[in-house]
Amino acid sequence: MRPIQMVDTKTQYQKIKAEVDKAVMDVMESSAFINGKAVQDFAVGLSAYIGAKHTIPCANGTDALQIAMMALGLQPGDEVITPSFTYVATTEVIALLRLTPVFVEVDAKTFCIDPVALKNAITPRTKAIVPVHLYGQAAPMEEIMTIAKKHNLYVIEDNAQAIGCDYCFADGTKKKTGVIGDIGTTSFYPSKNLGAFGDGGAIFTNNDELAAKMKMIANHGQSKQYYHDVVGCNSRLDSIQAAILNIKLAHLDEYIVARRTAADYYDNAFANQPKIKTPYRAAYSHHVFHQYTLILDGVENAAEYRNLLKEFLASHSIPAMIYYPVPGHKQKMFEQFNVASQVMPVTDWLTERVISLPIHTELDEEQLQFITSKVLEYIKK
Ligand SMILES: *Cc1c(COP(=O)(O)O)cnc(C)c1O
Repeated sequence: MRPIQMVDTKTQYQKIKAEVDKAVMDVMESSAFINGKAVQDFAVGLSAYIGAKHTIPCANGTDALQIAMMALGLQPGDEVITPSFTYVATTEVIALLRLTPVFVEVDAKTFCIDPVALKNAITPRTKAIVPVHLYGQAAPMEEIMTIAKKHNLYVIEDNAQAIGCDYCFADGTKKKTGVIGDIGTTSFYPSKNLGAFGDGGAIFTNNDELAAKMKMIANHGQSKQYYHDVVGCNSRLDSIQAAILNIKLAHLDEYIVARRTAADYYDNAFANQPKIKTPYRAAYSHHVFHQYTLILDGVENAAEYRNLLKEFLASHSIPAMIYYPVPGHKQKMFEQFNVASQVMPVTDWLTERVISLPIHTELDEEQLQFITSKVLEYIKK
């Protein structure tokens, strides 16, 4: 059996090596390392794929969020609502820009922001909402957009984990996540569903004005060369990464199918196990399974039971991860916002019970069989 990894970028690369190597060589031959043709081609290709009027490539997914927030003209002290149960990048940039992060609960089934908690957190200072499509499934965007419209709030979708995910509206229309809110952001970190061979990110919008502003911010606030209108930053996707991403974008749908096939295998193996909740699949969302995350339920000392499963799997050379062991409202980083005292039973409950199993495009049946047999062996002990 091939060794089991959380993500297997190496085997994935072997399958497209000839194409990728040629594309990288072409960039090297052209010497157009910054903003070369590959970057422009990728922006065009990604816009078409996701259905965005504008795609602005940038250096990483964290910058993408930061640039998006800078473009909205928010003022220090303005409140931005975000789920507590997410990766820190989502929230960090809010604090970095001297805005106030407001943490809210997630839904125990979808792992995404709970619309009721969101509604209750709105104050006269609230300016924006940052829903996260966690683990590859969309947050309930239709409800979120209705709330946002009513209260005149911006919506920035953190789509780092869900690129390619289809959202189905009540009237049957479909859109990809990342183009539903005012702005969408994503990451091409190597382990993401569309991963580069280094860092990368992108911003999506259908709003011409915001697009122009974000392009400017990502490029030192420059309107024309050496004329800088606003304070910006330096955030670029380099041509070599864009060339690789161009090739991988053509495979993204097939990568999603491979992830979903692995998820189906897990779902079947774990069906009707009282201690295991397999990932809930919302009717409104496709699931692109950036992570395959179980909830271990109905056991005493849940966190310890879960942590011992992780150790048991590790002893059989099966990696597993806890995404995320510390929710935002309990991070020391946000102490100044006095959030540690916030009561978030759902987030805390999940934090103690989630465990993510290996999921990627290269898992074979032998590996899946081995992983599931070991999980079942542990929970039946
Ligand atoms: C990966 C990730 C980011 C940040 O992306 P980077 O490219 O690593 O900066 C932001 N939000 C979420 C939810 C992520 O998973």
